[in-house]
Amino acid sequence: MVSTEKKAAEILRQGGVMLSESCPVCGYPLFKLKSGEVVCAEHGKVYIVRDEKEENKVKRDVILQSIEEQLLMLATTTLEELKKEPNDENSITQLLRYLDAIEKVSRIRTQSNS
Ligand SMILES: [Zn+2]
Repeated sequence: MVSTEKKAAEILRQGGVMLSESCPVCGYPLFKLKSGEVVCAEHGKVYIVRDEKEENKVKRDVILQSIEEQLLMLATTTLEELKKEPNDENSITQLLRYLDAIEKVSRIRTQSNS
C-alpha cells in the first residue's frame, strides 16, 4: 500500500498545490491539482463546503449526477432491446422518455452550476 506521504509527494510532483484547508475526514492537508480539482492524498476528490448553502448545492449536484447516470444506463438498455425488436413501439416511447428526462436533468445541472 502506498503511504499518504508518498501520494502527497506525487501530487506535488505533478504540479499540485498544497492548500490551507484540510480534509474533513482525515485532517491531512488538501491539494489543488492543475485541473482545479481539490483532492486529499488519502481520500481522493473532496468537496470543500463553507456553509450550508454550498453543502446543499454539492449534495444536489451529486444527486443529479447519479440520476443522469442511471437514466443513461436505462436508455442504453432500452436501445439494445430496440435493436433486437426495431418495431417495438413501447421501447421507442420509453427511450424518448428517458432522453427527455436526461435533457431536463442536464439543464438543471447547468443552471445550478452557473
Ligand atoms: Zn482525507
